[in-house]
Amino acid sequence: MTGIVLPTTDALRTRARAALDRVGAAVPEGGGLSARTPVTGEYLFGLAAAGHAETEEALAAARAAFLDWRTTPAPRRGELVRRLGELLRVHQEDLADLITIEAGKIRSEALGEVQEMIDICDFAVGLSRQLYGRTIASERPGHRLAETWHPLGVVGVISAFNFPAAVWSWNTAVALVCGDTVVWKPSELTPLVSLACDRLLARAVDDVGAPRDVHRLLLGGRAVGERLVDDPRIALVSATGSTRMGREVGPRVAARFGRSLLELGGNNAAVIAPSADLDLAVQGIVFSAVGTAGQRCTTLRRLIVHRDVADTLVERLTAAYQKLPIGDPFDRATLVGPLISAQALERMRGALSRVRDEGGTLLAGGARRAVETAPHAAYVEPAVVRVDQQTDVVREETFAPLLYVLTYDTFDEAIALHNDVPQGLSSSIFTRDQQEAERFLSTEGSDCGIANVNIGTSGAEIGGAFGGEKDTGGGRESGSDAWRSYMRSATNTINYASRLSLAQNVSFL
Ligand code: NAD
Repeated sequence: MTGIVLPTTDALRTRARAALDRVGAAVPEGGGLSARTPVTGEYLFGLAAAGHAETEEALAAARAAFLDWRTTPAPRRGELVRRLGELLRVHQEDLADLITIEAGKIRSEALGEVQEMIDICDFAVGLSRQLYGRTIASERPGHRLAETWHPLGVVGVISAFNFPAAVWSWNTAVALVCGDTVVWKPSELTPLVSLACDRLLARAVDDVGAPRDVHRLLLGGRAVGERLVDDPRIALVSATGSTRMGREVGPRVAARFGRSLLELGGNNAAVIAPSADLDLAVQGIVFSAVGTAGQRCTTLRRLIVHRDVADTLVERLTAAYQKLPIGDPFDRATLVGPLISAQALERMRGALSRVRDEGGTLLAGGARRAVETAPHAAYVEPAVVRVDQQTDVVREETFAPLLYVLTYDTFDEAIALHNDVPQGLSSSIFTRDQQEAERFLSTEGSDCGIANVNIGTSGAEIGGAFGGEKDTGGGRESGSDAWRSYMRSATNTINYASRLSLAQNVSFL
């Protein structure tokens, strides 16, 4: 056995209840959905999933609330989000407890996820006074041409298990200041976190006197998500999850001319150039590849290393991997918590066996850390595998701590390898060569939505827009001008002259 000591499921259940109590959230006990914990791999509570009638009622209520909320001045809408940010500060530890219990995140990452929510609230409050349109030079005398931005409608948020709270807040904080209302279908794997978030927002709504139904939570699985996808009252479906899910959601929303914002899987790589500072690189690689037990969309999955430094880097990496503390995510010394489920572990094992069949060499990790007291928990040693080429398994996203190492000789070869995967989320280069760094960021370099220099692929700040290209779905969330996805624009032409002049010098009548 492994020496991993875990809290009991009873202790986790009590801790979850205490956190929910402090937040003020009630657990809707019933059937249809189970809250589980990957910490021990066991069942916590039975919960009632939203049925047809409840979904219908929530959609109608959110639509009615939109008609009211959209006329509330944006800076006043910001007051609701400011209050949410205050409550998140007060309950940061409680929410982090629930994130650790349900998603298995280590303590500092769980607290970091809540910090990210606080940050996006601050950002959205500022944004509530900055929903700018442009004035455009008109070709006609006595005319003003302008662009105005208006609330869009009800936003349906469908979210994944691995950022059970932050992804909701990226969408909700921004959607609310934009004048939209939100219906949220969280991951069926993290219902308790969503109950706490929903309750905190409901408290903020009461505190500032906003309409009750600006936010509605619908617990459930894929069938509830599908209702949001198909319902014409949902103006925007913002869906975060696997590429498989996005392939189903995108065309269905498009078929009813709805809008979708897709944040899907990644297969992120770092290029390690011969001039790289290897101390920096090792730290950046280990955090990006192993953080959240390899279960971030931005997790580093491919390392593209110059042949001259490959052996040295691999040696340093495998040494670092051997020292990784794996175990109880509540223990502050732990760096690697559990995988979300036994199925996730099976998928990692399947990928490892495929890549070894294809000639890959396992350099570190890959073994399960069985825990006697928790036979269903999925603790695993993060793995590093050296491969000669990008075979099918390397080009897929395996949502686990599995890092493939490839080597290159020329910079062009590194870029070609880097971009030769279906996904396009995050990327990075470690180099001291300015020309290489700039080429990596240039149009002919990384084809991803996120491209970094001398920093890993994961751990983005909320100020920039977040999202990726190709099979990652093309959506942008969070900072920069991602807010535009949550609003509709109108082009206004105002004639303040005394005669009607037509554009393009057209003469008529
Ligand atoms: P998942 O695709 O299994 O589920 C995500 C959500 O989609 C869940 O709420 C699920 O119930 C819902 N869903 C599934 N099929 C649906 C359908 N046909 N219609 C409507 N809703 C449906 O993903 P997961 O396992 O929870 O999360 C891991 C995946 O999410 C990884 O691929 C990861 O890369 C990705 N992810 C991407 C981002 C990003 O911002 N790009 C962020 C986090 C996670």
